[in-house]
Amino acid sequence: LTATTAPRRGAAITARGLSKSFQGTTVLHPTELHVPAGEILVLLGPSGCGKTTLLRLIAGLERPDGPDMLRFDGEDVSEVPVERRNVGMVFQSYALFPNMTVAENVAYGLKVRGMAPAERRMEAARLLALVGLEEHADKRITAISGGQRQRCALARALAIKPRVLLLDEPLAALDAVLRERLRAEIGLLLREFGITAVYVTHDQAEAMAIGDRIAVMQAGRIAQIDRPEVIYHRPMTDFVADFVGTMNRLTGPVRNGRLILDRDGTRADLPAGGPDREATICFRPEAARLQERPDQGDILARITAVTFFGATQRLLAEVAGQILRLDLPSKLAFSPGQLAAFDIEGNALLEFPRTA
Ligand code: ATP
Repeated sequence: LTATTAPRRGAAITARGLSKSFQGTTVLHPTELHVPAGEILVLLGPSGCGKTTLLRLIAGLERPDGPDMLRFDGEDVSEVPVERRNVGMVFQSYALFPNMTVAENVAYGLKVRGMAPAERRMEAARLLALVGLEEHADKRITAISGGQRQRCALARALAIKPRVLLLDEPLAALDAVLRERLRAEIGLLLREFGITAVYVTHDQAEAMAIGDRIAVMQAGRIAQIDRPEVIYHRPMTDFVADFVGTMNRLTGPVRNGRLILDRDGTRADLPAGGPDREATICFRPEAARLQERPDQGDILARITAVTFFGATQRLLAEVAGQILRLDLPSKLAFSPGQLAAFDIEGNALLEFPRTA
């Protein structure tokens, strides 16, 4: 990147007490957030949990309810109107101008800012090269594909060298193959630019692939915010555990620190720690290891179904009337009805605080 295209470094975002209600219904409870400069933060959660609302508050498209604080690099922007916050935005619907060419779309923000024609043509060309659209510069928007439009929208947002880039489900309209390719490209591009980005999605695979950190949102609150590995391996609540990946649960009595089940020829004996109680112990499907002998292992399960996934296979297995999902290498042979013994990796076992 040359000096002219190199954006200034992204700004750190700090928010405190950011909240929003519509017609008396709170859709975002007072929220604290710190996004360090250059970080890609993904807001992940089910439909209606408040992701877009939080994004629009950061952009200045929405006014927060109460006393609040929103800073970009320490500068209070809560009273700064949207057009002066210097945020770039990329939405699911590309919002490109259909009567302009690809290059004209990218240069639009520069034109508005008064940049001379020759200079903005050069600038647009550089950005189009960056997103791999240089050959399409003179085509009309209507003559390029969905994925190309999305990259054009990204180039246009980056052209104004925003301090903060906000993306709301930018890949939702694309087919699965394109989505997977673009999510890798967008992640790389944003990191190359050192831009601070807040990226909204309800797709957990996209969140894992793109985010430096993920904020999992539930009913207007951030349920957990952390690096993708931590969200996956150390979810703090049942909600986070279930929203990101598949989680197995075995419920039963804990005696002398072990969860014990024994019924219908199946059994479980798992370390649970703590006092005697009724407990639910959780683990991910890939934490199971096949044991040679049925009298070994943490669980003895009855296989009820086998689904081939390529490198792995997913077993449905029953222990004391409870159904588990176990992912094992495909080269191992299982058949429905058989009993099989498994160890569960000790550090994969989780127990969540009771919410009821
Ligand atoms: P999705 O993934 O479906 O876009 P989201 O997590 O982005 O969901 P928001 O768009 O932030 O959710 O909406 C949160 C809640 O606020 C929803 O119940 C929505 O209906 C409501 N809401 C959003 N904007 C408005 C508005 N302008 N007027 C009234 N209600 C609104």
